[in-house]
Amino acid sequence: MGFWEGETCEYCGGSIVEKRVTMHRKVKENYVLIESVPAGVCTQCGTRYYAANVLKTIEESIRGRRKAERELLVPVYSL
Ligand SMILES: [Zn+2]
Repeated sequence: MGFWEGETCEYCGGSIVEKRVTMHRKVKENYVLIESVPAGVCTQCGTRYYAANVLKTIEESIRGRRKAERELLVPVYSL
């Protein structure tokens, strides 16, 4: 039974399924990608929910306590 099993979206009431998603976060002047993040995703409106322990792991990762798996150049577009 998944963490998000039976949960519903607080915005639209849709059901939430667990998916692995890619997040991007801006850290100082750099964008970092965090891959394979377990998230609850609303099947109706697409809102993503993250468990507190997942967010904590992400924070620790981007604060440099974990070494990045690999580094990519991220193209950034601005209008
Ligand atoms: Zn929703």
